[in-house]
Amino acid sequence: MTKFTDLGLDQSLIDAVNDLGFEKPSEVQEKAIPILLENESDLVALAQTGTGKTAAFGFPLIQKIDSDSRTTQGLILSPTRELCLQITNELKLYSKYEKNINVVAIYGGASITDQARQIKRGAQIVVATPGRMKDMISRGLVNITKIDYCVLDEADEMLNMGFFEDIKDILSNTPDEKSTWLFSATMPREVSIIAKKFMHSPQEITVGAKNSGASTVQHEYYQVSGRDRYPALKRLADTNPGIFSVVFCRTKRDTQRVAEMLIEDGYNAGALHGDLSQNQRDLVMNSFRKKQIQMLVATDVAARGIDVDDVTHVINFQLPDEIETYTHRSGRTGRAGKSGISMVLVTRSEIRKIRAIENKINQKFILKTVPTGKDICEIQLQHLANKIKNTEINDEIESHLPAINEILADVDREELIKKIVSAEFTRFFNYYNKAKDLNSGGGRERNERGERGGEVPTSGSVRYFINVGEKDGYDWMSLKDFIRDTVQLGKEDVFKVDCKESFSFFNTDAAVTEQILSTFTEFKVDGRFVNVEVSKNPGGGSRRGGGRRNGSGGGRGRDRDRGRDGGRGRRSNSNSSQGGGGTFSGKRRSKRRNTDFF
Ligand code: ADP
Ligand code: MG
Repeated sequence: MTKFTDLGLDQSLIDAVNDLGFEKPSEVQEKAIPILLENESDLVALAQTGTGKTAAFGFPLIQKIDSDSRTTQGLILSPTRELCLQITNELKLYSKYEKNINVVAIYGGASITDQARQIKRGAQIVVATPGRMKDMISRGLVNITKIDYCVLDEADEMLNMGFFEDIKDILSNTPDEKSTWLFSATMPREVSIIAKKFMHSPQEITVGAKNSGASTVQHEYYQVSGRDRYPALKRLADTNPGIFSVVFCRTKRDTQRVAEMLIEDGYNAGALHGDLSQNQRDLVMNSFRKKQIQMLVATDVAARGIDVDDVTHVINFQLPDEIETYTHRSGRTGRAGKSGISMVLVTRSEIRKIRAIENKINQKFILKTVPTGKDICEIQLQHLANKIKNTEINDEIESHLPAINEILADVDREELIKKIVSAEFTRFFNYYNKAKDLNSGGGRERNERGERGGEVPTSGSVRYFINVGEKDGYDWMSLKDFIRDTVQLGKEDVFKVDCKESFSFFNTDAAVTEQILSTFTEFKVDGRFVNVEVSKNPGGGSRRGGGRRNGSGGGRGRDRDRGRDGGRGRRSNSNSSQGGGGTFSGKRRSKRRNTDFF
């Protein structure tokens, strides 16, 4: 077994390793550290998230830096502010027994003058996001013309995020003789372009997909109908009372909405996405690290690389567009040798994506059923009993006991237990008592869609009705653009757009029908609901279904959902609607529509 002391690291770094409690090097560390210490060569290292890449480049970098010189010698580029801060903190821990090593983080959204001042004091190592780095170079606030080492961390993600040009520009400001170390979880084409263009015969190491980090994660999927995603999410949380999780959504809007709904329903949740201010993001991350937030709802970009140990579950509220992104998501759990579960909520049409991911990660998914209300009640009861059993007795109550005993004098032990448990549990039970089965399969989904105004076809071309038209300022071209942009579809994906006076029709391939319908569920433009339904009149452009659709105003369906599916017991079974939104028509929405988000 290789030990850290076998890798060629100085004693001061070994001392830091011991303080960190790392017992033995991970595979990528074992492979990369000796190469980087001994050679002045370039390196491409491919390893999954959670495999310890930061230390793999961090220790050699610190050892190689000349701490007597204040010149910037090492540059680490990383995709997000959170990662920059995380790497900077790690490097500070690694170098705690080295004198005079300064590591400075540079990232957008914070004062550039402060960062420039820190650089000016002498930073041998700069950790930067590409955007801010480029900015500072062009303003002459940082000098990287003398660096010896350049690390590209999470290279695939930086390129994913569109930093290709920035990285090229930054690298062109660095000396040719430097060594470049590229770390990435995956090797898409753009990463190999960077490697080819900017690196000189790099050594390559690959850490197998089935190493410590990845293989400790169990992958599960749950098949639900598109609009049951949210109640299903709640059930997954309720079945795991100690959950500490990252919930991934596809868009910032969904992220914000899911987090808001969870908070309203009494969960310890928070949102993390790019539309929040840096300050808000810091607050959320701090609460998450302290476990005050149990469910961090995040976009892929915002959560990328975030290193919080002990995450028990990753929940894919929606699958990512790119298969590779799934790897990054599930890598948020099962870190540092712990086990974790990655859960995916899928609709029937997404099952094929599961198969594609299985091929990619070389691991099988387990099909699980969304727990029933009864299951959840049972789990919660046991949790409650254990909680009572394990509660530490507060000595302060001693003096109050006589009075309490007097009140409870006539209640025997068995009855007392029943009462204590009921006090906590009845509210919960009321929510889940009549909850329906959320697992979709067979005919059930069809039924629901039927209620919604049209069966969802699974193949061929699908025609839709949308409640906007010329009087809303659209023509067929602008409407097509609007739909494409909103649903994030490709250029050719929306066709046969037929724009009428107050409503329109369009077609897409059936493969994207779920995506269309879920995007346009509870979807508002300028405060007004824009609804899309599968047209009952597949070929034509005449009025659909008797033209009874008029609309949009009215209640927000999730109150109904809450009543049906329960929360953390804070609410009563409310069926109320808070009127709102629709200026479109004075009439109430038809009762059965859009009773769920998503
Ligand atoms: P990556 O960059 O590959 O996603 P990180 O460098 O963020 O992974 O490391 C993931 C976690 O593993 C961190 O919490 C880190 O402190 C821990 N870690 C790294 N190396 C070791 C090791 N040799 N032994 C134990 N824990 C480690
Ligand atoms: Mg990393």
